[in-house]
Amino acid sequence: MADCLFCKIVAGEIPARIVKRSEDALAFRDIDAKAPVHLLVIPARHVAAVRDATGADGERLLGSLLAFAAAAASEQGLDGEGYRIVTNTGRNAGQSVDHLHLHVLGGRKMTWPPG
Ligand code: 5GP
Ligand code: ZN
Repeated sequence: MADCLFCKIVAGEIPARIVKRSEDALAFRDIDAKAPVHLLVIPARHVAAVRDATGADGERLLGSLLAFAAAAASEQGLDGEGYRIVTNTGRNAGQSVDHLHLHVLGGRKMTWPPG
């Protein structure tokens, strides 16, 4: 999608520290990391947020994206101590980039509930 920051990262038009890639998904380091490991996991095709991943296609996308995030977390060595996967949707959650992304946070103890 034109003018979408994360579509530009998928296309290689904006650099990112990519840690895992498939035909359908990409994992790269958040530019403003909130934990020792902070990845963003995104679908290669533009979907604005989880609420927009509808129908059978959306269901497949969400399932494979979550599995991809778990595999990326595992490759980062996070399985033993654990990690958190978060996705912000819309204004109240503070979503700032309108291309669906899962935050994978690890390497420190998380607090609950999130702010
Ligand atoms: P949100 O606030 O929408 O849940 O998360 C967006 C995330 O994207 C933020 O954590 C922010 O630090 C990250 N981000 C914004 N711009 C860039 C960028 O150009 N490169 C990378 N790697 N991360 C970005
Ligand atoms: Zn996009």
